Amino acid sequence: MNDDTTPKTKSPLAGLNLNFLAPAESSQTAPMAPVAATTAGGAVSARVVIVGSGPAGLTAAIYAARANLEPIVIGGVVGGGQLMITSEVENYPGFPEGIQGPELMGLFRKQAERFGARIVDADVDRVNLGGRPFRLWAAGIEYRAEAVIVATGAEAIWLGLESETRLRGRGVSACATCDGFFFRDKTIAVVGGGDSALEEALFLTRFASKVHLIHRRDAFRGSKIMQARAASHPKVELHLNRTVDEILGGEHVEAIRLGKTNEPGEETLPLDGVFVAIGHRPNVAVFRDWLETDERGYLRIDGATTASNIDGVFVSGDVDDHRYRQAVTAAGEGCRAAIDAERWLEAQEAYEAPRAAAGAATAH
Ligand code: NAP
Repeated sequence: MNDDTTPKTKSPLAGLNLNFLAPAESSQTAPMAPVAATTAGGAVSARVVIVGSGPAGLTAAIYAARANLEPIVIGGVVGGGQLMITSEVENYPGFPEGIQGPELMGLFRKQAERFGARIVDADVDRVNLGGRPFRLWAAGIEYRAEAVIVATGAEAIWLGLESETRLRGRGVSACATCDGFFFRDKTIAVVGGGDSALEEALFLTRFASKVHLIHRRDAFRGSKIMQARAASHPKVELHLNRTVDEILGGEHVEAIRLGKTNEPGEETLPLDGVFVAIGHRPNVAVFRDWLETDERGYLRIDGATTASNIDGVFVSGDVDDHRYRQAVTAAGEGCRAAIDAERWLEAQEAYEAPRAAAGAATAH
């Protein structure tokens, strides 16, 4: 099952044959653009480096590649973003029958590679955005870029219980798509009151015999249609005004102890698995020293554009957006970031070329 404590070099989706990491098939009608990166002093240079390979990063890559910016995408060891742990996506336009999240991301990647984007499956561990070229390090390689697009997304939040950490990978998970299969004919709980929890609870009914949906308040936050689906599903039992105080079990999850927020007392539910679906945190760690964040810790953009507080660094997707957080809005913002980067580079070059020519003339 998915175990967040395993080294990041092993995808939690290994074995699912998601084909996300497969290179694009060659196409005679759409020749690959040449890779722009050159090696200078051990560093790999590109006009645009995009960090992140979810909908925002890969859409930025498609647009930047088609603008001949020959981008490098440093996409993360486990690429593809949140859609890699999403099951059916029913609201991404163009797929009237719905599409599996990983399959959709595989298509994004193929499209970016078709136009010559080069995708590196590594995590960025350090950056220096103190001047141009911007410098980024990933898997021991230094990348230099004239412009950077940050599209690092957001990741799952955990409850923070000791028992949750201890039993993670032993019945505790934050990824229904990865781990649902392991709970065939079992009883499980999903924790949370937003769309993620509702969606995961419904998805898990495909495997589990019973799904307890546990929420700390008296009303769900998720969309009305998802609430109605969960409430009417014969396998789903709603537990409102309940907090998960402890996950019980030695080697594996055996039960959960629930606190009551509307009355005194507690209760214990025997079960085999717990899926935590209480939201996400933006992945800003390597950028924290350079880029401004808002009061919730998301990267700040100027709003009218995707510009960050550093000239030449653009931001897109869930790492700045805690309001919409949809694949389609992330993709849209990735498009905006690529166009912003392209126009910014053009403006820089229009400004710098005459200065360079004037400098050369005075040198003679
Ligand atoms: P969310 O909307 O922020 O909901 C998080 C839920 O977890 C809330 O109900 C919250 O309770 C609860 N929670 C937070 N911390 C908790 C804790 N420590 N203990 C117990 N419960 C806790 O997050 P999300 O569900 O991941 O959704 C994020 C965004 O993505 C939303 O805009 C959502 O609409 C969107 N989304 C859409 C789809 C879809 O359309 N298919 C699917 C998934 C997500 P409170 O309500 O009490 O705050």
